[in-house]
Amino acid sequence: MKSIADLNPSQQEAVKAANGPVMIVAGAGSGKTRVLTYRIAYLISCGVPAHQILALTFTNKAAHEMRSRIVTLVGDSAQSLWMGTFHSVFARILRREADHLGFTKTFTIYDSDDSLGVVKKTMARLGISLQQFNPNMIRARISTAKNQLVLPSDYVARSRDIVDEKTALVYAEYQKSLRKSNALDFDDLLIKPIELFEKNAALLERYQYRFRFLLVDEFQDTNKAQYVMTKLLGGQHRNICIVGDDAQSIYSFRGADIRNILDFERDFPECKQFRLEQNYRSTKTILQAADTLIRFNLNRLNKNLWTENPQGAPVTILDCHDEQDEGQQIVRALQREISSAKLELNDLAILYRTNAQSRALEDALRRSGLPYTIVGGIRFYERKEIKDVISYLRVLVNPQDEESLLRIINVPSRGIGDTSIENIVGYALGKKTTVYAALSEVEQIANLTDRAKRSVVEFRTFLKKFNELAGKLSLSEFSRSMVDELGILRMLKEEGTTEALGRWENIQELLSAISEFASTHSEPTLEQFLEEVALVADIDSWEGTQNAVTLMTLHASKGLEFPVVFVAGMEEGLLPFYSSTIDSSNLEEERRLFYVGITRAERKLYLSHAKVRFRFGDLSYQSESRFLLEIGKENIEYQSGPRRISSLTTGGEGHRQWKSSHTKKTRHAEPKDVDRTPEYESESQEQFEVTRGTIVRHETFGRGKVLALSGSGEGQKAVVQFDDYGIKNLVLRFANLRLG
Ligand code: ATP
Ligand code: MG
Repeated sequence: MKSIADLNPSQQEAVKAANGPVMIVAGAGSGKTRVLTYRIAYLISCGVPAHQILALTFTNKAAHEMRSRIVTLVGDSAQSLWMGTFHSVFARILRREADHLGFTKTFTIYDSDDSLGVVKKTMARLGISLQQFNPNMIRARISTAKNQLVLPSDYVARSRDIVDEKTALVYAEYQKSLRKSNALDFDDLLIKPIELFEKNAALLERYQYRFRFLLVDEFQDTNKAQYVMTKLLGGQHRNICIVGDDAQSIYSFRGADIRNILDFERDFPECKQFRLEQNYRSTKTILQAADTLIRFNLNRLNKNLWTENPQGAPVTILDCHDEQDEGQQIVRALQREISSAKLELNDLAILYRTNAQSRALEDALRRSGLPYTIVGGIRFYERKEIKDVISYLRVLVNPQDEESLLRIINVPSRGIGDTSIENIVGYALGKKTTVYAALSEVEQIANLTDRAKRSVVEFRTFLKKFNELAGKLSLSEFSRSMVDELGILRMLKEEGTTEALGRWENIQELLSAISEFASTHSEPTLEQFLEEVALVADIDSWEGTQNAVTLMTLHASKGLEFPVVFVAGMEEGLLPFYSSTIDSSNLEEERRLFYVGITRAERKLYLSHAKVRFRFGDLSYQSESRFLLEIGKENIEYQSGPRRISSLTTGGEGHRQWKSSHTKKTRHAEPKDVDRTPEYESESQEQFEVTRGTIVRHETFGRGKVLALSGSGEGQKAVVQFDDYGIKNLVLRFANLRLG
């Protein structure tokens, strides 16, 4: 393979050590992911069939990117690689083998919201007060237990407090409910395969043979179940390659365990270890700042990281008054960066600790007219109206899915009230049958009003009709006609409020997503579509190709890189995050999280902090994060922007009232937000096509480059980076631009 020359000698060695266990624990930006990618390409070029290689990544997006990289290295044969997150790969395996576990292939995957619903219903059934015991906490404890492979029967023995005792009761019943609903929750996707393989040695052997080469990226963030799976699958041939960085372990709150790295050394004592010490991503300054910081962690493996990259500019600290000021200062810095370093907007990222922080930042960006894209917030597939339609699809695929069935039984409202629902569920329980089956026995259910009975019959007829249509219509025709017949779209249109129209649009978008899915898969099925939906994570839907500034949480930024990075909210309590006190292990994890943030930056890093900010609904005086002191004085410079006197009162109010729907779409400034002056809105546009990158000339502002376009027709606007005047938002119709 010629392209192996793109790697340095230690990277090459790591790529070529094809057989036996390999472990690469190395610092950020040292090419771990690159080595993994080339290693797969190398295996294929040595004749290993691509379908015998299984690569596990932290996001599905990372898997897509890796696959396309490998295809360019070794050609289309790489398409049959097995690649994805642990959850998505094992969901695929479970789908094939579900009958061994007493589930059917059409099982539903419950997200955290569905799981919470089941927990609440279970608690109510067991007579456990939802006021006294927080269902969220009980759900979290069940999830932790599952990830540590603790069964309901063993949970009782480990009880430490009354919440544990209640959790033990709920856990056992919760599992029964899931089974009855032919549903698996997110944790089950990792645990059930273990159960499957431990029960069935022949099957395990088949998969061990099937996946002769195993590769795991971001190994530091695997949890116990994931590690056990890796060992089970790779235990025989032992061709396991793990790469990771203990200093970037940031998911311990979800059960990730750095000890897996040490266990790997113990369980595979013959493993070859490779050192990757050259960083290719960042400047010397950024690397020094990261290194100085991480040395404050006692719990870490020693690593050397150096770079041939230039020294680069110091890390700039933005001292801000409040969050509005922070937004403005960041925007000004963004604009300076774009004009001086000639960067594209998608070269810039703003990272923060909590999703709530994005609001003030978005506000500032909207005012400046800079297009931005935000990763996270309420996920598309978690929106109520989307979840409703998805629940119909789920019930059609898996009628046993009780959580979904109860969600839609009275949506849209058809007169089946809570009491009627309770009666139906009670009847099903008494008869030891499913709620779905109970729908066909309305006449025998006591205490149902005639209206409720009629409605149940209508609902059941509806489901039956679409069950029969499922095989007859194409996937997109099927879903569209189901939504039409439900009448949801018509109702939303009639309601006519902005919110209702937003929902209408979302449902249309879902239908488009289904059509798109159908057109990109050779034999699309509803099951497959639902599975993809269940496994989509925030970062997966981020394109990164739009020309827009990217906003995301520090957690979501793992593995990515940007020329310029801002980390906002460098304040005690926010980063490190804590509400009263912080213990040392949490502090170390927060430090690692900040380390991840710093090491995303290639050329320039900005850190901002505010003196006052709204936190938990109150104005709070914030002190600078200890981490600012920990990155080394020699690596930083301070810069304070002009103060906005009124920001505390008016800005604060505005901030609280401003509503964001947190979509992932690129948003462009509304006309009212754009800081425009009449002079440059006067004449009409010369006839030529303006596209991204077009060099234009404006009468007042001179030469500039078009960074982005939005809208169409008379309302079309352009964001133009002028050489001398910075960024301006222009309505093309008025701007009178010429080719520059
Ligand atoms: P992280 O710890 O953040 O996940 P990583 O160790 O996985 O980082 P990569 O993302 O693989 O690092 O590489 C960082 C950057 O360095 C990428 O842009 C990659 O293309 C580049 N890079 C890695 N190795 C080389 C090399 N030998 N020559 C040139 N560029 C390289
Ligand atoms: Mg990586």
